[in-house]
Amino acid sequence: MTPSTAEAAGSATTRRGRLSRSLPVIAGAAIAAAGLAFGSLTAASAQPGQQHCTTTRPASIAQQAACVQAEDAFTPVNGNAELNVNVLEDQVEHYYGSASATYPVVGTVTIPARDSNYAAQMKQIVDRAEAYLAAAGRHDHGTGKPAVVFDIDDTLLNTYDYTLAEQFGYSSATNEIWVDNAAFPAVFYMPQLVRFAASHGYSVFFITGRPQSQTAATVKDLTSAGYAAPQGGHLFLKPAVPPAYLHCAKAPSCTTIEYKSGTRKHISSEGYNIVADFGDQYSDLLGGDAGHQVKIPNPMYYIP
Ligand SMILES: [Mg+2]
Repeated sequence: MTPSTAEAAGSATTRRGRLSRSLPVIAGAAIAAAGLAFGSLTAASAQPGQQHCTTTRPASIAQQAACVQAEDAFTPVNGNAELNVNVLEDQVEHYYGSASATYPVVGTVTIPARDSNYAAQMKQIVDRAEAYLAAAGRHDHGTGKPAVVFDIDDTLLNTYDYTLAEQFGYSSATNEIWVDNAAFPAVFYMPQLVRFAASHGYSVFFITGRPQSQTAATVKDLTSAGYAAPQGGHLFLKPAVPPAYLHCAKAPSCTTIEYKSGTRKHISSEGYNIVADFGDQYSDLLGGDAGHQVKIPNPMYYIP
């Protein structure tokens, strides 16, 4: 919601059952993303010739992204065959489980549970990522200093508490309160992964769609959740006006893919070899200079 959701500025309704995130987040997209996560979409909602995102898991991140994009654009013919949005929300709640935390100003909130399927999936992802980084450290022949890139919201910081409080909606105004009060727990096992990367010789970079005005709050959010503060020059927030190294098709604003991949290209140009890139949105991972792409599960919202 924040990095990504901060981009989706504007107001969102909070009526239960209406997934609204003003910009790119659409209920259909969330359903598609959840289908990928849960394997719960059926062929009934697929058009002839449409890829079956869930029955045959695509091989690459680019193929998975194309699949979600196709499902996002899909117009159902039979509304009875669609997964009911309220049912989907309930599934998302079952996936994250229910624990609680208390933060200044926002108070006591529901956060993901340590015994949830989400936590179990994150354990698997982090175990595999550590094995990959350890092996790549021994065998990678890329030139430059080895580096890893992390998105922040729902990659390092989990925003389910905010999403629930907003009843699956979003507004930049309320989100800012949560950002300012560091009201997001760490994504399970990710502090361990970031420490692992740093201790195995990787430079750690952070690229978030949060606006640059949230720089200080973002550092506080990370450290409050158990991460080391980013090194100087290693934290990138979205600038109001793109710097010269970003080339955006619709200047002065960049798409998420343009901003994130362009920033990674900039990091590479400074002498780093990006070995792996971690993000909860496909737009965190596409566009090049990503190395090994690791998709972190997020059935809450979709940012193309
Ligand atoms: Mg994110």
